[in-house]
Amino acid sequence: MHMIAAAIILAIILSGALGVLLLMRQAAAVRTQSERVPAALGGQISLEEHKRAAAYTLARTRLGIAKTIFDTILTVLWLVFLLGPLYSLVAVFVVPGILRSVAVVLAFALAERLLHLPFSVASTFWLETKFGFNRQTPLMFVRDRIKGAALSLALGVPLLCALFLLPQLSPSYWWLAAWAGFAALALAMSVIIPAFIAPMFNKFTPMPEGPLKERIEALLARCGFESKGLYVMDASRRSSHGNAYFAGFGRAKRIVFFDTLLQNHAPDEILSILAHELGHYKLGHIRQRMAEAAVLAFFGFAILGFAFADGGFANAFGLPPDPALILIVVSAAMGPALHLLSPLTSHLSRRAEYQADSFAKAMTGPAPLISALIRLARDNLSTLTPDALYARFYYSHPPVSARIARLKAA
Ligand SMILES: [Zn+2]
Repeated sequence: MHMIAAAIILAIILSGALGVLLLMRQAAAVRTQSERVPAALGGQISLEEHKRAAAYTLARTRLGIAKTIFDTILTVLWLVFLLGPLYSLVAVFVVPGILRSVAVVLAFALAERLLHLPFSVASTFWLETKFGFNRQTPLMFVRDRIKGAALSLALGVPLLCALFLLPQLSPSYWWLAAWAGFAALALAMSVIIPAFIAPMFNKFTPMPEGPLKERIEALLARCGFESKGLYVMDASRRSSHGNAYFAGFGRAKRIVFFDTLLQNHAPDEILSILAHELGHYKLGHIRQRMAEAAVLAFFGFAILGFAFADGGFANAFGLPPDPALILIVVSAAMGPALHLLSPLTSHLSRRAEYQADSFAKAMTGPAPLISALIRLARDNLSTLTPDALYARFYYSHPPVSARIARLKAA
């Protein structure tokens, strides 16, 4: 086997093995600590609830292990055995050029989606149903998939055409233009998604008038915010998991509360969660995350620029140097690199969470946020005893007990 090909395959297998190892550590940590509620949360979460959270986390972790093994094997199979025949099959129907490249990526994406469908089905209709979270019917599930696929086609096809056309216009510098275009598009999408795409999947209604809205508006005013753009989303149609988020920027920004969150939390807790979200906005975390994505994308496009010109990535696997195949091989090769970066991106995310917690503490005091975090952990069956290394790698939010400890500290 070609050296580059062997190196890529090895990296994919090692990355998959690392993922499985970390998931196994997480399972072991949760299992061995399932009989006793951590001291910091004793009295606030019952042993029964703690055991149930452990069972849920274990089931999710096992599904994660199966998925990681499946993904790793499938990626290697694609690279070594399947991409060539897939390309030949598409070549029978589509003439060479940009159209064929686009068709190859679409065929690959369709096959990937179908092959991963059993995991989505198992997650929704076995795992989430077993633990009482799922409220989706099979019909809703199918409708969501069809809408999602239609949306990917409508957005993806023009983007793929541009990606394959640009190198023909400027073979050396196309990737810089593509990166600039990508950054502009990401910025536009942060407005387009909440305003146009999210409403295709959920209903957003303005927050109803009443004492809660008045208190929310008072908090927004205290933080120097306009009170426009407060919405309630009918998340309860699909799942009973509760959440709140902030979307868009400038005049298009909006704050979205899941109806499940409003139903399950006391007004003080809702205000503290809002204060946390406002903290993310005030402290520039949304901009920071966009900047992180832009830096990653810069390197991604630079590598693609090199790979398109060189063709070596496809050659290494005995594939024709079609840009579609190069794109797929490069994406697969970048997977392990991104996996190794996850401790860094997770760390940055957790740091932002602590900062937003501090902001909320300054605005509403620590008590309502602490009780909100405990209630969220209880309602979402979050584990209170994650493995430290696993959490360091993948947790975008610090473990609940760590957040509460920080909030209690002076
Ligand atoms: Zn947050």
